[in-house]
Amino acid sequence: MSKPVILIVEDDSLISKFMSRAITEAGYKSIVAETASAARMLFLSEMPNVVLLDLGLPDDDGLNLIPDMKKYRKEASIIVVSARERENEKVKALDLGADDYVTKPFGIFELLARIRTALRHSEKAAADPDGNDSGIFTHKGLTLDTVRHIVTLNGEPVHMTIREFKILELLFRHKGKVLTYAWMMEQIWGSYIPADNQILRVNVTNIRRKLKENIEDPIFIKTELGIGYRMPDDIE
Ligand code: CA
Repeated sequence: MSKPVILIVEDDSLISKFMSRAITEAGYKSIVAETASAARMLFLSEMPNVVLLDLGLPDDDGLNLIPDMKKYRKEASIIVVSARERENEKVKALDLGADDYVTKPFGIFELLARIRTALRHSEKAAADPDGNDSGIFTHKGLTLDTVRHIVTLNGEPVHMTIREFKILELLFRHKGKVLTYAWMMEQIWGSYIPADNQILRVNVTNIRRKLKENIEDPIFIKTELGIGYRMPDDIE
């Protein structure tokens, strides 16, 4: 089997060298693009499984690469690597189709964990493009049966409202991935999107209470501050 290919789009050569070395040592093939135009070319010629995308590039905004990459090969996972002060851009990137993000400065173990998650998602997407499943999801004692509309925690039924159920289903279907407030609200409320995310947060608070979630160390729903929610992957 050929090695997974990771495309690093980063104009700071110190950072890209550091990433490239760790990625190679982890057994992947790493390719570096220092400009947006090089990234576009390498994306087409090298068919990377994962793209690590810096947004501040010399010739273009990294955000502009996301829709094109996703249109061309949506099974390629895009992880945005962004600076802390560019918080708004992270949300924009995720709404444009990026799969995940890491914030600079990051640890190499965090980055490799995100790459592993991304690779698993892209394998799943390639093997099963329609997302066919049994309709039953489980995560650490929590089971969601989307056919019979039943939620159980350690075998005990838990009553959820229709909206709470939908929120859990979204988190389960995109386990490991951060979901933005705007995206979740569009999925749940459709064109009747509430003006702010207060109602979503209230619903999540109710779900957490019903699941006896420990807010200090949640195992079902993690808050990504200012961005949205994530159900942690099993490897986390
Ligand atoms: Ca940069």
